[in-house]
Amino acid sequence: MTARTPEQTRIYADDKLDEFFNSVTPELKAHVVSLPKRITQISARPVIRLKEVLNTADQIFDHAGKFAACARGCGHCCHVSVPITQFEARYMGENLGITPVELKQSVKHELTEYGSHTPCPFLKNGECLIYEFRPLTCRMHMNFDVDNYWCLHENWNKPEAEIPRPTIQPLIDAYHLTISHVAPIMADIRDFFPQGRATNS
Ligand code: SF4
Ligand code: SF4
Repeated sequence: MTARTPEQTRIYADDKLDEFFNSVTPELKAHVVSLPKRITQISARPVIRLKEVLNTADQIFDHAGKFAACARGCGHCCHVSVPITQFEARYMGENLGITPVELKQSVKHELTEYGSHTPCPFLKNGECLIYEFRPLTCRMHMNFDVDNYWCLHENWNKPEAEIPRPTIQPLIDAYHLTISHVAPIMADIRDFFPQGRATNS
């Protein structure tokens, strides 16, 4: 692992991001772009809408995998803040058989609050224990650099840190459209699930 300047990262990642976007089929592009409109048509139930958002995220980001530096077991990104909404926490909890903490208001966290000593409670031996039900933010978190240099604990919160990620705006718009009327409270995954899978067991 060699030190990388933000400039090196930018040049490499711009190419990779272009390659990724150019490789997306017109059908998949249209499917993603239409998401905010589509979810309002498929159902009035927020949970159905959320599932469609998550499914669409998987479709586009599974496709992105071959362009990213991310690899199974890497997991430095599971030590940083993982913001989720109360509604998503409830959705995860229902599927995992865990009752999330019901927060009365959003909880703000400093960017540098979490680090190597504070992994996500669902991370075990470098693997996500709840992969199928991981939140949207985890599904979208990818590093398009040549390696995970800027994700390493000692580097990720340096002021010059650069973790190039594709921003898929229709996903974000559709997510906010889904949760804004139901439970817009937002906090870190650790606030909702302080003990991970052990909460109710
Ligand atoms: S985002 Fe960074 S830490 Fe997470 S899997 Fe990708 S390269 Fe590894
Ligand atoms: S939910 Fe899974 S992928 Fe997301 S931060 Fe936790 S361990 Fe990592």
